[in-house]
Parts: sequence; C-alpha cells; structure tokens
Amino acid sequence: MPYRLKQLQKQLPTVHLVAVSTCVFILGLTLMLLPSENVEATRGDLPMAAPAQSIESSDTATAPSSAETSTASTEESTQKKETIATPPSVEENWVDYTIGSGDNLTSMFKKAGFTARDVYNVATAAKASESFTRLFPGQVLSFLITDGELTKLRHRQSELKHTLLTKTDDGFKVDIIERKPDIEHKYTAGTIQDSLFLAGEDAGLSSKKIMELASIFGWDVDFVLDIRKGDSFSLIYEEKFLNGKKIGEGPIIAAQFINRGSKFTALRYTNADGESSYFTPEGYSMRKAFLRAPVGFARISSRFSLNRKHPVLNRIRAHKGVDYAARTGTPIKAAGDGKIIFRGKKGGFGNVVIVQHGSNITTLYAHMSNFKRGQKTGNRVQQGQVIGFVGQTGLASGPHLHYEFRVNGVHKNPLTVKLPQALPIAESERSTFKSTASSLLAQLETYQATTLAALDTQKL
Ligand SMILES: [Zn+2]
Repeated sequence: MPYRLKQLQKQLPTVHLVAVSTCVFILGLTLMLLPSENVEATRGDLPMAAPAQSIESSDTATAPSSAETSTASTEESTQKKETIATPPSVEENWVDYTIGSGDNLTSMFKKAGFTARDVYNVATAAKASESFTRLFPGQVLSFLITDGELTKLRHRQSELKHTLLTKTDDGFKVDIIERKPDIEHKYTAGTIQDSLFLAGEDAGLSSKKIMELASIFGWDVDFVLDIRKGDSFSLIYEEKFLNGKKIGEGPIIAAQFINRGSKFTALRYTNADGESSYFTPEGYSMRKAFLRAPVGFARISSRFSLNRKHPVLNRIRAHKGVDYAARTGTPIKAAGDGKIIFRGKKGGFGNVVIVQHGSNITTLYAHMSNFKRGQKTGNRVQQGQVIGFVGQTGLASGPHLHYEFRVNGVHKNPLTVKLPQALPIAESERSTFKSTASSLLAQLETYQATTLAALDTQKL
C-alpha cells in the first residue's frame, strides 16, 4: 500500500502544480520565511524514532546567486562597449575559499594573501552586519581581486543569504542579498503496518518530518500506546526550491491522522504576530496544556484502578495513577508548564516530584532513580522539560514511573482525563483563519480524493 502511494505521487504532477500556484499566494510570504523548527519537539522520543541525522541543511555552498551574477554582468556590459572584440562571457575573477573549523576572518585573509590592514578595513565596514564576523565551517568567502587589490568580497552564509562588500572611494559598501526560495506543496500519505516511522519512510518522509507529524498529533494520539495497524496519515508540507533545485523542506501545513477510526486534522496557521501553530478546522489549538504521557520509550505496566492487588504489598489497594515501565535512567518530562512544589523522598513512592499546574491541577512522578540536576522546589518547569529519571526507589518491583494526575486534589485517570486545551484562534483572527483553513482543507481533500481515485483505477 505505501509503495503504491509512492508510485501514485509520481502520477499526479498536474494536481500538484495547480495546488502549488494557488496556495503559494494564499499562504503568503509569512509562512515560507518561518523556520521549520517551529514545531515543538515535545514528544520527540517516539518508540520508532531513529536519530534525527538526516536533517536537511540548506547551508550548502553553491554557485553565486543569480542576483549577483546579473549585477556583475551589467557592469561588464558597460565596459564591453569599448572592447567589442572580447567574447561576451567575460567573468569577474572570483577566488573562493571554503571556511574550515577554527577559521576566522584573519586566517581566511591570510589564505587569500591579504594583510591585517585589509582585514581591519573589511571588519570595520562589515561591523553593522553579522556577516564576516560570524563565519561557519562550510560557508564560502569569495574574493574579487583587481590589479592586486581587493575590490569585492562575498560571504555566502547560505544559498539564500549572501553579503557582498564592494570597494568604493570611501571604504567598503555592504549589500545583503537575500533570496526567497520557491515554495511548492508536497502531498503524501501512508498506512501504518508496523510503526509510524516505517510507514513515514515508505511515504517518502524524512525522519525529521515524521517527528514533526508525530509532535503535531502527540497531544491527541499516544504514539507509544495508541497506534494500531491500519491507522493512516496524510499531509501536505512545503518544499523549498532554488533555481529548480530542492534546497530543503518547510513545515507541514496540513495533516490528518486516523487513529483507530478517529480522525484528527491539524492546519497550520500564522497569526498577525507571525506566530505559527496548529489548529483543528474549528479553530481549536492542537496543543493541550498537558502531555498524555510523561515518558517516551515506555509501556504501561499498570493502569489506574481503584481495586488493584499491589505487586509488592500483595494486597488490594487502589492504584491512583498509571505505571510506565521503562529502563532505569529514562528521562521523565513535566506533563505541562508548572511549578515544582515537592521534590524529595515520600515513603513508598521513593524519590518524587510534584508539579503544580495553574491553580487546581497537580501531577506526581514517583520512584525516580535521580532528580534532574539544577532544579529545586519552587522552580518553574516547562512542558516537556526533564525533571528526573525512571528508577525503582521506594516500593517498586521494577524500574517504572508511577504517574498521577490530580484535579482539585482528586485523583484522575491520566489516560482518560479530559486535558485542558491551549487557547483557540483569537476572535480578531477568526475570519482570516476560516479562509486559510477552508483552503487548506480543500487542498488536502483534493489530494486524498485523487489518490483514492488513482488507487481504484489501479485495481481495475
Ligand atoms: Zn504505580
């Protein structure tokens, strides 16, 4: 199935392009400028997570931007009037130096045969910009030398940003050349056989994108426990192109996840302040104020129950929390933003942290092997922040996290308690959100329908 979907993507270029041209305008430039890292990786450690090593880097050095090349050629063309015999492809004689680790402006100038005086002149001119002073390995410095003198210097920070220094009669002039990539929308879908990770890979997603997808739905779907064979996902995300070459990926802009028959839809929206987050089509935030599970890489070893036989005490005793069995040392994360109100030993619970959230909710984490260093009672913690590590201190038959969720002092089942949501779309943004949302939904549905139709055709 995922294989066939991949094949189908290739058969759908027309739809793809139509959607691209319409949506680029709708979404505007705001979206494309946002870094894709905006998505919080609060649920980063998924069971199927591979190390995020395949993160795209757009900072690979390439040929000079066409913007500069065109400037250069106009300058040449003015000169060319006098020397008509010269072939039209006269090029400025740039010399490129790739920045290595430990390099700075002085060492780079030395390599290019310039003096400390030249470094001083350039550094003075570039003082206001971050270029030249912040050099990173892999970036390229290009020197244009005319009659033994430095006339231009270019710092290629990335494919999208160059800084150009040009010698004038009174020092160097600084130009920052920023290029906007072309944004295209990429659709893909998959059905889970074994894990979200494998299905995501089959659908052509990078591990970074799979994590992004999981973190969008991580508030509603517990990727440790809730995933079933047959669950499916579909998503549209941005791809960035420069001169027809893919240089990176942008964020997911719309996604759907069907978990055991329940459909969750997330749409990315950027508000007037330029902040992006994911909302349901109705305008509710995908973020909840709490994580469903405070540990990754875990399995539930004991559920919330009011009459359970205690494994150590061997008698009936209410179990007012959920036990997550995990290896000793597994990080335990604060389920929501809050304040540590207890951190210490507490009888059978061993090492315990209690976090107060807002005025009426507390969460408790027990049997920790160790607390997170540097924190103490009274400290504020953020959702997803590590507060300690799984262990078996106190009365425990093996390493696990005992997790409790209390509302107004009353124990609730952490697996079923209705989690408070983050704020919905602001009233002032409702109408803008509605039009963005309906356009994104329409796009998602068109892709899905076309994919299904193509699947049917294939069956015939
Ligand atoms: Zn327990």
